[in-house]
Amino acid sequence: MQELQKRALVFAPHPDDAEIGMGATIVKMLSEGWEVVIAELTNGEPTPAGSPEMRLAERDAATAIMGVKERICLGLPNRYLQVNLEYTRTIAEAIRKYRPHIIFITYRPDAHPDHVHGGELVEDARFTAKLSKTTMLYEPWWTPKLLYYYSNHLRVNIEPSFLLDVSAFWQKKLDAISAYRSQFWDKYAAEPAKAGAVLESITAQGRYLGSRINVQYAEPFFCHDLIGLNQLGSLAGI
Ligand SMILES: [Zn+2]
Repeated sequence: MQELQKRALVFAPHPDDAEIGMGATIVKMLSEGWEVVIAELTNGEPTPAGSPEMRLAERDAATAIMGVKERICLGLPNRYLQVNLEYTRTIAEAIRKYRPHIIFITYRPDAHPDHVHGGELVEDARFTAKLSKTTMLYEPWWTPKLLYYYSNHLRVNIEPSFLLDVSAFWQKKLDAISAYRSQFWDKYAAEPAKAGAVLESITAQGRYLGSRINVQYAEPFFCHDLIGLNQLGSLAGI
């Protein structure tokens, strides 16, 4: 019997959100044979630091570090994402094209409107993607699971639905984030103490969450549905 090709579609409001929130999980999924496609809703431009060309080169470098084969940008407007039918259809067509088993988007609430509206758009698109008798491209598709990852502009205590052990893939995540030099290093040319501080903060969070499940590093995920198990061994790490 042919084994099922497991597919994931990771939506990101901007380049770097996927790496910050679930970079290690992406590498872990690839190592387990998942097909992982990253789809940015916007190209993240304009932004205080860098240029469109630089942002694209950094994004491509991060993609190569993680080993992701396909990454697309849906070209929606950075800073001005709004929930409307046009953008919903654009995202729904990406879901219909890639037919994922899990889709991911940033967790809400968030202080960044693109993250808030991006999340709403992906939720709407998940449903819209299954509609028949439409003019949308590709065949209808319903994605069984929608998960939220934590790349967020609020500083809150989070209560994830579950934590994933990503200890073996943590360094790859840091390497991928480090590709975004314009955003986390060059931007702080006048404040050297802040350059690269993102790595320390992300590592502190990953280490803390890892300690909650007795592993070195973990990434948090959120789900509105109850999480079902088909075997109990993973609860005991066996
Ligand atoms: Zn973002």
